[in-house]
Amino acid sequence: MTTAAFADFTTLRVGGPIAKLERARHSRELVGLLRRAWEQDEPWMALGGGSNLLASDDGYDGTVVLVETKGIETRRDGDGVVLRVQAGESWDAVVAYSVQRGLAGMEALSGIPGTMGAAPVQNIGAYGQELSDTLVAVELFDATTGEVEQVPAAELELGYRSSALKHGRDAVVTAVEVRLRDDGGRAGPLRYAQLASALGRGQDDAATVREVRDAVLRLRGSKGMVLDPDDPDTRSAGSFFTNPIVDEHVARTLPADAPRFPVAPEPEPLVLPLGSEPVAPPAAPTEVKLSAAWLIERSGVSRGFRLPGSRAAVSSKHTLALTNTGGATAEEVVELARFVQTRVFAEFGVRLQPEPTLLGIQL
Ligand SMILES: Cc1cc2nc3c(=O)[nH]c(=O)nc-3n(C[C@H](O)[C@H](O)[C@H](O)COP(=O)(O)OP(=O)(O)OC[C@H]3O[C@@H](n4cnc5c(N)ncnc54)[C@H](O)[C@@H]3O)c2cc1C
Repeated sequence: MTTAAFADFTTLRVGGPIAKLERARHSRELVGLLRRAWEQDEPWMALGGGSNLLASDDGYDGTVVLVETKGIETRRDGDGVVLRVQAGESWDAVVAYSVQRGLAGMEALSGIPGTMGAAPVQNIGAYGQELSDTLVAVELFDATTGEVEQVPAAELELGYRSSALKHGRDAVVTAVEVRLRDDGGRAGPLRYAQLASALGRGQDDAATVREVRDAVLRLRGSKGMVLDPDDPDTRSAGSFFTNPIVDEHVARTLPADAPRFPVAPEPEPLVLPLGSEPVAPPAAPTEVKLSAAWLIERSGVSRGFRLPGSRAAVSSKHTLALTNTGGATAEEVVELARFVQTRVFAEFGVRLQPEPTLLGIQL
């Protein structure tokens, strides 16, 4: 057991004391530590790289289990390869491992900080790829059943920066299985225009996984989205707000130049009495994804913005990231986040939702 504070274990470098920090280096140790916390009925949480967490200055009166379990196993599966990875492995180290072997499916997710075990929690995504494209299953230690279970990806309700794990399922990911394509080092389609253009290709052109990884790392570096101790803009939790998804009626009220990306709605199940004629269900309004960065900029909050006297600032490279310029408190980050939310709501009537997990904080 170590005395610690969230400020030492999160990329935002804020957050108060942790009552009890336990480190789990082997999966048996992880299960044992969690079981003990559950038996003692004390508050508990899992912690990986702390790159998607904003913890309050009051800290946490419970057990934080730092997941540091390591190990990658590979097995062939038809024309692909399945990687089974322990939860504490670094996500980006696993991407590098897959790219080195010419395996495709994770290359556009290069440079995302954090651990393998946390990746399913918000179904990480970037540059046209999401974890859900390759995720086969997770091994979970479930606090409700007290059992270690193999859970298929289809049961995790994976969506845009969301999953059942982020929204209520009380469980810790102990291992993750992804299935990657073994296609001679060829990457999947370049779905993201900015990535295709950085590679000097069209969106249907081919690229290698190595080329995609290198281009993504360059793009991310230019936006302060790869952790770098020499770049204060990376003292953040990445994108602080998700891109809002609104129905088309709301989207129509925005200025003509607001970026809009249509989202296919989930079809509602249609239940008809036996023998009745099928009828077309009423058309649901189409959902539209907006750009949170655009809304923030157009509401008058620019890069580098900070409230008077505050040590929290909007990144100087990207309006979506809130940063700790040095010595900021969690409260200063929260004040800035509330200010941004208020500006965007006042200007456009759209409420921005935070992307990181909030601990002891309401936004
Ligand atoms: C510079 C920067 C860039 C980023 N870019 C992106 C991006 O492009 N796309 C993207 O999606 N995200 C991005 N992020 C966010 C973040 O890196 C990811 O969400 C990452 O998966 C978090 O991993 P972590 O190990 O740091 O999780 P933590 O911050 O430690 O934990 C986050 C949440 O997951 C829970 N958790 C952690 N481990 C487990 C586990 N084993 N089982 C169950 N729950 C667990 C924690 O309790 C907490 O609620 C970025 C962050 C930073 C700082």
